[in-house]
Amino acid sequence: MKCKRCKAAAEVHVRQHSSAFCRACFVVYFQRQVERAIHKQHMFSADEEVMVAVSGGKDSLALWDVLQVLGYRTVGLHLALGIGGYSTASTTRTEAFATERGLPLVVVHLEEEGCAIPQLAGFTNRPACAACGIAKRYYFDKLAFERGVSVLATGHNLDDEAARLLGNVLRWQVDHLAKQHPVLLPTHKRFVRKVKPLFRLSEYETAAYAFVRKIDYEVDECPNSSGATQLVYKDALNRIEAVMPGTKQNFLQDFLRLGYPVFARSVDSPPNSCSQCGMPAFAEVCSFCSLRREVDSKRARRATARRT
Ligand SMILES: [Zn+2]
Ligand SMILES: [Zn+2]
Repeated sequence: MKCKRCKAAAEVHVRQHSSAFCRACFVVYFQRQVERAIHKQHMFSADEEVMVAVSGGKDSLALWDVLQVLGYRTVGLHLALGIGGYSTASTTRTEAFATERGLPLVVVHLEEEGCAIPQLAGFTNRPACAACGIAKRYYFDKLAFERGVSVLATGHNLDDEAARLLGNVLRWQVDHLAKQHPVLLPTHKRFVRKVKPLFRLSEYETAAYAFVRKIDYEVDECPNSSGATQLVYKDALNRIEAVMPGTKQNFLQDFLRLGYPVFARSVDSPPNSCSQCGMPAFAEVCSFCSLRREVDSKRARRATARRT
């Protein structure tokens, strides 16, 4: 197969678009796809500082790379989750990436905040991924607000978004469907705009991009994610995609075109402010404060039990 742009020997095959590229042209194609998503969806403008949530994995580092190449002003945000060797390695790679390119990076160690993921999960009956999701959302919102940026970008790719959509549809989570969009506008004074510039690019494409650009990312997946339902949905979609290329892309794009506007209309009132921390909350306290309360009371109870 030949490269679609320069007719040299192709090395990266993009099945969903039935095209192939040489390495150099694939990089151009990938960066243009991101640029197009940013413009078409009005994600942010050239004069805004963009906070990029970086885990140290391929997607978020590929995103940070592209934004830098395209000339956007960025600041990285990394949460050290405290999940053993996986977290240490992810933090090291993220810091190395930032140092090498002279990019600003904010790192928050959840262990120092008294809420490393294993601690949070160990003191509640929630699965680790649920506790992790709550902590991540909270710190992303809080740190973006404190930094004073107007936009936060995450590295969610097409596979992530399609899997999430499938999960939401299978359980008809109407309130989640109303918020599944590559651009979420703030509905509270402490929220910033949240965007997903990689939402049209598959996991295969981001992996290929990270490889071609020689990005040193953390290859290991989070040890907690092995049984995650998200992976079951991804696997199911990959099987369909193998037989019917383009399914994932159509599933997501048609939802955004036809389904999202309907669900978004049904969304209820905006959040109020958490009575404890002031961040957005859909109850009296936000999900994170409620999780911390639960953890603190169980921790205290266990300590008392040990003393008696
Ligand atoms: Zn080429
Ligand atoms: Zn709170």
